[in-house]
Amino acid sequence: MPVGVLALQGDFDAHARALERAGASAVPVRTASELEGVEALVIPGGESTTMLNLLHRDGLFERLLARATEGLPLLGTCAGVVLLARRVEPPQESLGLLDLRVQRNAYGRQVASAVVPLRLAPALGEPPSAEGVFIRAPRIVEVGPEMEVLAWRDEDPVLVRSGRVLAATYHPELTDDLRVHRLFLRMSEQNGG
Ligand code: GLN
Repeated sequence: MPVGVLALQGDFDAHARALERAGASAVPVRTASELEGVEALVIPGGESTTMLNLLHRDGLFERLLARATEGLPLLGTCAGVVLLARRVEPPQESLGLLDLRVQRNAYGRQVASAVVPLRLAPALGEPPSAEGVFIRAPRIVEVGPEMEVLAWRDEDPVLVRSGRVLAATYHPELTDDLRVHRLFLRMSEQNGG
């Protein structure tokens, strides 16, 4: 069962390598027809505005929304969270699949990129901590009641889940800790592939 990595822009290669290290086969998704061949999809970090423009080129945005509504498992990281969130500040279009309010680039200019210790929920297994790589990351400032929070940076939620959608404001694909990708693969399998 191939897992797609949206490969329009951003750090899709790092996700493909992480998925393969976690035992999955990863394929790039650049078009609506390539999307039909995958049973789960990663939306990588990058620039959400650029990705939005490219998603609108051949109807990929609408197909992605349709497949997500049908239950396609999704993992979004960093810009991917911006694309998944229902509310984005400053306002911009999004898929609106997660009940979140996010502020883009909200961790400050000088410290826009940093490696920060995270606290993890038991669902991630041991140890209950990890290093989070933040690169001009969005900040989750409001979490809907049905969202499950799986990791925190201080008090901020940084890894959240709702149904078949998992989202990290940091970059788990840039460390050797494969737990987020493994969790995503388990979520994808549970949904019948
Ligand atoms: N700042 C980017 C955005 O808001 C996200 C940065 C990233 O994905 N590393 O789209």
